[in-house]
This record gives sequence, structure tokens and C-alpha cells, in this order.
Amino acid sequence: MPHTLFISDLHLCAKQPHCAQVFLHFIQHTAPKAEALYILGDLFEYWAGDDDLDDPFHQQIIHAMHTLAASGTRLFIMHGNRDLLMGKALEQASGATLLTDPTLLDLYGTPTLISHGDALCTDDVAYQTYRNQVHDTEWQRQFLAQTLAQRKTQIEQLRARSENEKQSKSSAIMDVNTEAVAELLRENDYPRLIHGHTHRPMHVLHHLDGYTCERWVLGDWHETGNTLRCEPEGCEYLTVALPISP
Ligand code: MN
Repeated sequence: MPHTLFISDLHLCAKQPHCAQVFLHFIQHTAPKAEALYILGDLFEYWAGDDDLDDPFHQQIIHAMHTLAASGTRLFIMHGNRDLLMGKALEQASGATLLTDPTLLDLYGTPTLISHGDALCTDDVAYQTYRNQVHDTEWQRQFLAQTLAQRKTQIEQLRARSENEKQSKSSAIMDVNTEAVAELLRENDYPRLIHGHTHRPMHVLHHLDGYTCERWVLGDWHETGNTLRCEPEGCEYLTVALPISP
């Protein structure tokens, strides 16, 4: 059956080898059966710049992606907030096509809008200010002008601070804003919406101006992963796990 897979928020890093094993199993055994795989952001825990491609952990992941793309499954990747600095060299090495956020697809006849999702969290004003800053090309140019080691140190400090701040933010503030979702759906002529970022997998129906739009939120990956599988008839969540060894 022709189908397309969507994943996001894997937060892959060398310190979490199990999660990487689940991803490698998924990309070697599950994804090749799909027509296309879309990675909707935060594939990596962080991405300090494409000059970090040589890192052995990154090499393993990128090589598996390239093998998938070469096998005939179309592979697409979108920036998340953590891997915003993925660029042309990563695109080339992985065989994945970088998509802008959001992108509207024709998915087996159903208009489907895909996004990482962080732009929809408009209640978190402090985060949106930070987001505007790091999306600025001049800011990115200055950041990338530093050495790789300097960038990694800065990112790790920033991550520690953001984890701290998260403790004091209410869970409602960190979810998507319903009006921001409605606005995006209106602008794109009432499509189906698939996004990640919030780590709250759910299937929601938005009744808007006489239209019904379904919204699928992808979950994050830990000991197991999860994927949204879409066929012409519709979508369903599937769990991704390593096979149980006898
Ligand atoms: Mn995110």
C-alpha cells in the first residue's frame, strides 16, 4: 500500500544510544517501504553547524539517511528549533531535501500542511522573541563565525537555561495557541495539519468557518519512537521499537 511517514522530535545525540538504535532500525527496515519520509524538525538534540558533520555519531545517522534516499524513498527534512542550523552540506550528505516551515503538500489528494510547530506557540512570548532572533540571517552568520567548540559550549549553556525556565512555565503556555492554528489553517485554505514540537501526540479536529481540519501532533522519541503513517484513506500513529531479541 503506498504510504508516507512523518516523524519529529527525536533529539538524537550520542549520549542516548538506544534512541539512535531505534531510529537506525526504523530508517533501515520501516522507512524503505514508504514512498517518502518527512522529518519535521528536531532530528538532533542540537546542530551547531554543518562543520559538525564529521562527528562519528552524526556520520552514522547521516549515512543511514543517505542509504534510504538512495534506495528510492524520498527524504525530506525541516528545521526544528534545536537543529535550525542544518544547511546545504547536511542536505547533500544525507540526500534529504530541506523544506521551509510551513510547507503545503498534496498528500494523495488531501492538502496537507507540515510544520515543526514552534511558531504556533505564540503564548510563550519570551520564546517567540528568542525565535525571531535566531531566525535572523545576520545573527546566524555571526554565530557560525565562531569556532565549533565555542558554538557547542554556547548551545549547551542555552539548553541548560531553557530547561530551567521550562520548569516555571505553565504547560498551557508551551502548547500551540488555538488562534494561531486557526490563522495558519485559514491562510492555507483549510488543509490537514501535521506538526511536532509540543511532544503531545494527539489527533484534533478544528471546526473553522464551515470547514473541518484535522490536526495530527507527532510525539517525541525516547525508549520507543512513533511515526504517523498516511495512506490515501487517512493517517494513523504507529509505535517504533527495536525487535525483541529471543
Ligand atoms: Mn522543537
